[in-house]
Amino acid sequence: MRLILSLGLIVLFWHLKAQTQILVLGTAQDAGFPHIGCKNECQLAFKDPSLKRYVVSLALVDPKNKKWWLFEATPDMDDQIQYFHELTNWEYEYLPEGIFLTHAHIGHYVGLMSLGREAINASNIKVYALPRMREYLKTNGPWSQLVTLNNIDLVDCQADQKIQLNNSITVTPFAVPHRDEYSETAGFKIQTEVNGYLFIPDINKWELWERSIVEEVKKVDYAFLDASFYEDGEIPNRSMEDIPHPFVVETMNLFANESKDVKSKVHLIHFNHTNPILFDRKKRQEVLDKGFNLADQGNKY
Ligand SMILES: [Zn+2]
Ligand SMILES: [Zn+2]
Repeated sequence: MRLILSLGLIVLFWHLKAQTQILVLGTAQDAGFPHIGCKNECQLAFKDPSLKRYVVSLALVDPKNKKWWLFEATPDMDDQIQYFHELTNWEYEYLPEGIFLTHAHIGHYVGLMSLGREAINASNIKVYALPRMREYLKTNGPWSQLVTLNNIDLVDCQADQKIQLNNSITVTPFAVPHRDEYSETAGFKIQTEVNGYLFIPDINKWELWERSIVEEVKKVDYAFLDASFYEDGEIPNRSMEDIPHPFVVETMNLFANESKDVKSKVHLIHFNHTNPILFDRKKRQEVLDKGFNLADQGNKY
């Protein structure tokens, strides 16, 4: 009996270990935490590296086929690739199978520079992005050189069309409203053999999207959602209308009448350096007490 139980536990452990997972490689807004010019809350983080948070990024990890994919090429990408391998005991290829990009704001794509001739001189790393983003990379230096030298291979993908990564994993990009100066902005839905994930690191207010965020969250198991700012007035001397994002308080209000189960799917991410979630334990606890979750660097889902 004991032997059967032990064997059962080993099988269960093996099964869980072999499941596709998401690893969080960063949670900060584009310019990271600590942040250039930030005198108050960032000072401790400048001195103590354990308080530093990399720019928002996820790794999609498939242990069965020993493959991994990166979401976003951030300014911290070099460190995040090292961090990924430390978290996964160096069991994977150094560079990912492919990189998914949401848009052309600095926190989300400039890490591509490390794939070029001056750095690792990568060969045909697949880069998945929507049409305007691909065009932007193709037609503007220094990114265009990555294309002409075949460091990256831009993969043709369209909004709402599934990308099949293997038998059990699909990724579907979709368009969201954002400040689209250079590119459109994508979010991603990731479907694995066990879980559905939603990744929307940047979006203007939820009401401006033609889909209901509440309904979209209900369709998945984990939703990583834009939480750049906690509330209005957070940035002194700057109008927050120029940089619209859903405030954390607005997102929490929107889900206020939903069940515990639905609220717990929300994992806030993409924190600006002014967002108290990064440095105020009481504020973090308030969000958790309301039933929401906070994504953190190193977490696995
Ligand atoms: Zn961003
Ligand atoms: Zn952005």
